[in-house]
Amino acid sequence: MDIKVEDLKVLFTEKQIQAKIKEIAKELNAFYKGEDVYAICVLKGAVMFATDLVKSLDMPLKMEFIRLSSYGTAFSSTGKVNAVDISLPDLNDKNVLIIEDIIDTGLTAKFLIDFMHCNFKTKSTKFCSLLDKKVCRKTDIEPDYYGFHIDDKFVVGYGLDYEGYYRNLRYIGYVEAK
Ligand code: 5GP
Repeated sequence: MDIKVEDLKVLFTEKQIQAKIKEIAKELNAFYKGEDVYAICVLKGAVMFATDLVKSLDMPLKMEFIRLSSYGTAFSSTGKVNAVDISLPDLNDKNVLIIEDIIDTGLTAKFLIDFMHCNFKTKSTKFCSLLDKKVCRKTDIEPDYYGFHIDDKFVVGYGLDYEGYYRNLRYIGYVEAK
């Protein structure tokens, strides 16, 4: 199935997304209280969210980028997480903020949280996801911070792709099931 841009229904507008990011940033600024943070952007999907979010964070912050894949070209999670590039600096005693686009089954989030626990004794590890597709969860993982709960929809835009396309949309859209 092909997704055409004219078939997309808007789920969250650019304005709604940007307003939500400001809310999340406010919570994070209050939580970290000026402490140093390592913000870890999970590529490729979280690129738009992470870069917009960090612009509203006011603590000293370093950005890291890791690349995972779990979706392939299908509409549903493969159930297998691939670490394409997960090279990170020494995160012992650091505040780590993992930034994701969406939590679906929760397998990617679980993989990352386990990875952090196995490799580092961080000062804190928090997980922040713009979207939370709670109904599809296969793990007991919950994000510490999230933007919007969504139903079981395949969404694209604002970093989220369909076969590599639509990441550049300023809004988040979905296709109505026929
Ligand atoms: P999980 O491991 O939680 O099942 O899936 C996490 C990853 O699957 C996300 O980082 C994202 O790349 C991808 N994903 C999950 N749901 C969707 C969706 O509705 N649309 C798109 N484009 N990607 C999704």
